[in-house]
Amino acid sequence: MRIAITGGKGGTGKSTVATALAVELSKENKVLLIDADVDCPNDDIILSIKLKKIKDVETMIPEIDKDKCIKCGKCSQVCRENAIVQIRGEFPILVPEQCNGCKSCKIVCPVNAINEAKQKIGEISIGKKGNITLISGKIKPGIEESSLIVHAIKKYIKAKEKEFDYIIIDTAAGTHCPVIAALLDVDLGIAVTEPTPLGNHDLILILELMKQLKIKSKIVLNRSDIADKEIIEKTSEKFNSKIIAKIPYSKKIQEAYSKGEVIKDKGIERIVEFLKRK
Ligand code: SF4
Ligand code: SF4
Repeated sequence: MRIAITGGKGGTGKSTVATALAVELSKENKVLLIDADVDCPNDDIILSIKLKKIKDVETMIPEIDKDKCIKCGKCSQVCRENAIVQIRGEFPILVPEQCNGCKSCKIVCPVNAINEAKQKIGEISIGKKGNITLISGKIKPGIEESSLIVHAIKKYIKAKEKEFDYIIIDTAAGTHCPVIAALLDVDLGIAVTEPTPLGNHDLILILELMKQLKIKSKIVLNRSDIADKEIIEKTSEKFNSKIIAKIPYSKKIQEAYSKGEVIKDKGIERIVEFLKRK
C-alpha cells in the first residue's frame, strides 16, 4: 500500500508523522519510507539513519556550438524557464540552474547548433534501520525543478516496491509540482494539518488537489488542542475526508520534535489501526 503524508502548510508535522508512522508500522511490516521533501530532507535525522548515496540524478543540458550558431535567438524565445538569455546579435547564454532539460531549444534550433550534455541536479541516497528502508532525495542547491528528483526516486523504486508491505511518501509542503509528482499513483493521501485558520486554508488546497488527482484523502489533526477543531471538522465534512487521528500538543512530543527524534503517541497507533482495516 502506497501512502502519501502530505499537507499544504509547512511546519504542520508531516515528517514527524511520516517517521513515527514508519516506526509503528515497521513493528510488524517491511516499510519503505521515501523522503520526497527534496529541498530539505530530514527523515534521516529524525530516524538517526546514516544515508549512503546510490545515484546521481542528471538531466540534459544544452551545449551551444558557437561554430554552428547563427544567433537567431529561437532557443531563448522557446525556453519557458528563461534558462537561455540572448542579447540581440550575440551568442545565447545559458543559465544552467534554470534548465529543466526539456530539449525544446534543441528542437527549434534551425542549424542543429545545440548538443546534449548532462548536468547533475541532485542525488538519491539509501539507509536502513530494522524493517525500515529510507530512500531520500536531495536537490542540488540553486536548481529549481525539484519534481525531477521526485520522479527519479519513483523510477528508481519501481522495481523494488513489491519487497515492502507499506510505502510511505513524505512529500514537500504546498501544492506545487514536486508535491503532485509525489502524490501520483498513491493509494491514500493523509493530509497533516493543525486547527488554525492558516492550517485550514492550506488543508483545503491540498484536499482540492487530491480530489482533482482522484486520490482518496484522510486527515490527521496535529496539535489538535491548540485551538477550536471545528474549523477542520467542517472542511473534513465538506471534502468527505475523515479525521482518522488527532495528536495533541504535548511537552513530551515537542521535546522529541526539537531533538529531532521520533514521536510516540496514541494518534500514530490510530493511523496504523485505520490502515490495517484497509
Ligand atoms: S532544455 Fe528546455 S529548459 Fe533547458 S535551456 Fe533548453 S528549452 Fe530551456
Ligand atoms: S536556436 Fe540555435 S542558432 Fe539560434 S541562437 Fe539558439 S543555438 Fe544559435
